[in-house]
Amino acid sequence: MKFTAWEVRKKQEKRYLKALKKLRRFILHLIDKDDDLPQILNHLETIAKSKELDRWANRYAYTFVTGLQEENARTWRQAAAKSSQGQRMYNALQKTLRGPVGDRVQELIESNAQYIKSIPQTAAKELVQFTASKAYADNRNTYTADKFKGLTAGLTEKHAKLISRTETAKAHAALTQARAESIGVDWYIWHTCEDQRVRSAHRILDGVLCRFSDNPHPELLAGKADRGAYSPGNIYNCRCYAEPVIEWSLIQWPMRVHSAGRITRINKRDFEKQFGKIPNPYETIEQYS
Ligand SMILES: [Zn+2]
Repeated sequence: MKFTAWEVRKKQEKRYLKALKKLRRFILHLIDKDDDLPQILNHLETIAKSKELDRWANRYAYTFVTGLQEENARTWRQAAAKSSQGQRMYNALQKTLRGPVGDRVQELIESNAQYIKSIPQTAAKELVQFTASKAYADNRNTYTADKFKGLTAGLTEKHAKLISRTETAKAHAALTQARAESIGVDWYIWHTCEDQRVRSAHRILDGVLCRFSDNPHPELLAGKADRGAYSPGNIYNCRCYAEPVIEWSLIQWPMRVHSAGRITRINKRDFEKQFGKIPNPYETIEQYS
């Protein structure tokens, strides 16, 4: 019953990456090859304080988050259409847009805009830190504006990719969760991308029933150092995604279920013994709509 539609969309990730690269080009464009360190820091400060960056970051964050939000909404509509009472589900979802989901969208726009705006400042800080390092002291005579350019922004290709993947997955996860919670859906299935690059700590969670109110500590489950409890997509470079469970009749028992730090394989009867009657989202939808 895998729902590929819940996966994070590549398109948004690429858009984020493109925006970061654009910012990087803009920063590099202002740095002249004869600039010395104070001049470069000066440029970075000018960019950080500029109205253009402010406007651009706000506009970009708005487009990014609303784009994700539209795709997320489409996925929910598809899920609702597959369920036995799609229309009721759809109506309830429409209402949540004006409530908690709308608030979450606003928060995401603001935090992403803030993040983009902070990049030139972060670049300046990193440059200052670097010039205090031994590597720099040993080679200071050979440092030119070109070499400084190479260091600028922590915005290497690899880093920009990491940021865009992580931020896209995080925003997508936040929207999925906000929507699920707004209609009283707590259970979700953890899905990985099922390829070689999946973390071992996430691989053991693939296909496991979890709750937003009791997220697993994936690293602890794998016998590694704890990185906290989180849902899919909420750690750097994670491509996993949550599939909220709305149609319980589609669940194939026995299932592996996570609860209070343990994963156990149980059948429907034991599930009900442990967690109470199988949730009926249509009952909760009545309450929430
Ligand atoms: Zn993952």
